[in-house]
Amino acid sequence: MAVKQKILIVEDDKTIGHFMARALEESGYQVITAESAREAKMLFLSYCPSLVLLDLGLPDEDGIIVLEHMKKWHEEIPVLVVSAREREAEKVRALDMGADDYVTKPFGISELMARVRTALRHAGNLKREPENLENEVFSQNGLVLDVPHHKVTLDGNDIHFTVHEFKILELLFRHKGRVLTYSWMLKQIWGNYMTSDNQILRVNMANIRRKLKENPAQPRFIQTELGVGYRLMDDEEG
Ligand code: CA
Repeated sequence: MAVKQKILIVEDDKTIGHFMARALEESGYQVITAESAREAKMLFLSYCPSLVLLDLGLPDEDGIIVLEHMKKWHEEIPVLVVSAREREAEKVRALDMGADDYVTKPFGISELMARVRTALRHAGNLKREPENLENEVFSQNGLVLDVPHHKVTLDGNDIHFTVHEFKILELLFRHKGRVLTYSWMLKQIWGNYMTSDNQILRVNMANIRRKLKENPAQPRFIQTELGVGYRLMDDEEG
């Protein structure tokens, strides 16, 4: 039998903590729980979990500080932030500090599980031998991105993409299922000199969506995470 993956839940709200623990255990994960920042850091260091679910509002310390410590100690361990709705600034800050994704309270079990699986898969991919990145072809739900030939097809039809549009799509594909913040994407595509002006990204994204015939109300590929960034939907959500 495969060794169970350990997940550390850091949550001071017992109801939410139990809900997450039960759902994860039923899906075959081993769960460790902490109700304070102090306990979280201790358990993190002694167990080296496969993944952490971190509530940002903890009684003894700001969860952001806990995140900072965890990323300093073990950058490779994915941390999913659990945050209240309407706290976009907090989510963006956590993501920019190295959090791998977030779930917004209140969340459903299927959403939580999808985020956990995506983060674990991504962490696993990073650990493996780096593949020849130049030769990759990604596909999702009828959309194919052929990196070496710089070619995009949708349901078999060629679509012309500009260099920047292509790079944005490639970035989303490489991090499928995860939310990417505006500032991170800007930096990846236009480099460090680019400031926090999202306009250029928004214009490019609007063009991409038009070319992909996306209906913003019911996206087939790219989801907007309001005030945070964009996410390429994972297969199971599509
Ligand atoms: Ca809390």
